[in-house]
Amino acid sequence: MAAPFRPRKRLGQHFLVDPNIARKIVAALQAAPEDPVVEIGPGTGALTGLLLERYPHLTAIEIDPRAVAELKARWPELDVRQEDVLKVNWAELAEEKGGRLHVVGNLPYYITSPILFALLDAREALAEAVLMMQREVAERLVAPPGSKTYGILSVAAQLWATPALLFPVSRHVFRPKPRVESAVVRLTFERPLPDVDPELLRQVIRTAFNQRRKTLRNSLRRLLPSGTPLPDPWAQARAEDLSPDDYVALTRWLHATTA
Ligand code: SAM
Repeated sequence: MAAPFRPRKRLGQHFLVDPNIARKIVAALQAAPEDPVVEIGPGTGALTGLLLERYPHLTAIEIDPRAVAELKARWPELDVRQEDVLKVNWAELAEEKGGRLHVVGNLPYYITSPILFALLDAREALAEAVLMMQREVAERLVAPPGSKTYGILSVAAQLWATPALLFPVSRHVFRPKPRVESAVVRLTFERPLPDVDPELLRQVIRTAFNQRRKTLRNSLRRLLPSGTPLPDPWAQARAEDLSPDDYVALTRWLHATTA
């Protein structure tokens, strides 16, 4: 379907024009028909119509008033909210909708990482997220420890959710075409949450990866009380060598040591 208005580059507007890919994305959701589903960035509705067929309680969050007007005209029953997705209070929305949310969307790529971090922070309000994003970011979400692309996003996604890379998507199925290739990812939020101070954990991960070439003995020095060295084998390791569970163990040790 042609866009009924001029796509805005600064809003990451690349509209999906392949109905098979749209169907595959909707089919990847594990939500039951009565579950609350939230679409991020419905745009001209490439996914919205299909989603509504299955999920009558769909909520859509779109920043562009032109798209909101189109969506309201086409689907008067749709709960569409003109809002910045980065300002959504996911816990409040889950409360309002009566259960953990299933999030779906073809993301605006200029804010993929902030959206992912916001969803990971809101993990307790969410059941799953099926998201199309740049392939490079999708690969980072599932990157194993020790690999070149393993970073803060990988650790956070693998700690607070279970990420799965579902399928790649060619740049040729969008209008206008983006410069990069895409992929669809499912994040499932049913992992038992580790019992650890999440703020300290965040600080440890950020501090380690901000100086990823240094050994942790050096990069984490400022988080330790003076005179307390980091024990081996952590001391010799670099940020990318630690698994998400290793970060939890290290944070627990740090918490006990500095308490
Ligand atoms: N779902 C449509 C599709 O698949 O064709 C559109 C996807 S397009 C890649 C991203 C959508 O996100 C656009 O409709 C854009 O207006 C919207 N968007 C951009 N920034 C946003 C924000 N901060 N909050 C909510 N929606 C936003």
